Amino acid sequence: MDFTLEKYEKILRAGLDAGYRSFPVSDWHDLKEPERRGIMVRHDVDRRPENALAMARLENGLGVRSTYYFRILPCAFHPDIITEIGRLGHEIGYHYEDWHLAKADRQKAIALFADHLARIRTLAPVRSIAMHGSPLARENNMTIWEHFAFADHGVNDAILSFDYRGYVFFTDSGRTFGVSGANLRDYLGDAEVIESVRSSDDLAAWLSRRPREQIQINVHPERWNPPGMSWFRQWGTDMAANAAKRALKLARARR
Ligand SMILES: [Zn+2]
Repeated sequence: MDFTLEKYEKILRAGLDAGYRSFPVSDWHDLKEPERRGIMVRHDVDRRPENALAMARLENGLGVRSTYYFRILPCAFHPDIITEIGRLGHEIGYHYEDWHLAKADRQKAIALFADHLARIRTLAPVRSIAMHGSPLARENNMTIWEHFAFADHGVNDAILSFDYRGYVFFTDSGRTFGVSGANLRDYLGDAEVIESVRSSDDLAAWLSRRPREQIQINVHPERWNPPGMSWFRQWGTDMAANAAKRALKLARARR
């Protein structure tokens, strides 16, 4: 059974045993270019924040620090959990979607962004942001930065602030670490995706060989559940979402 906390721990242990260091996004950003060797660990908390807390505790026990990007919506924004994850030594970031919330109204979008960022900053210092990719939307949430500068808000952007050439990128979107027709918008600049790595076991084995030095792993905590009802519920959700995204991709290709 994949996408359990036990499997996530296996990935982390494989990386640590191979001698990789882990970094939250802003710590990585602070490094000079040639020093950037290791794994950036980035979490998008879309919903089920309690899963994020369990993951944050597991990482803390292994000495791993990472970044947790929280959406502002009630399905993810849980002040006590955000505070606790920050207290564990992890970085807290804002998983923004203000372009969509404002229905592409520029002034409204930037006002919402500033307001939401300020709200999260009452709970933890926030130096980094990452867009929430609504895969079914035509314009993604980074469109806001065609009109405004995120640097004016004292933050880096997990996608836009880095040159990802030469990096390898793994995301669990689409319930696979490999390339999937379902992860339409979960790209990372020019980073490479290793097609043969699909499961957590594949990823652990790949990391054990330490073939590359600049890696980003993006994990959605909601996807990682103990075996049981919550695991099956998430499995069903992922399968339905993948089917919908594949249908959309097919429809676009026909246009
Ligand atoms: Zn998201």
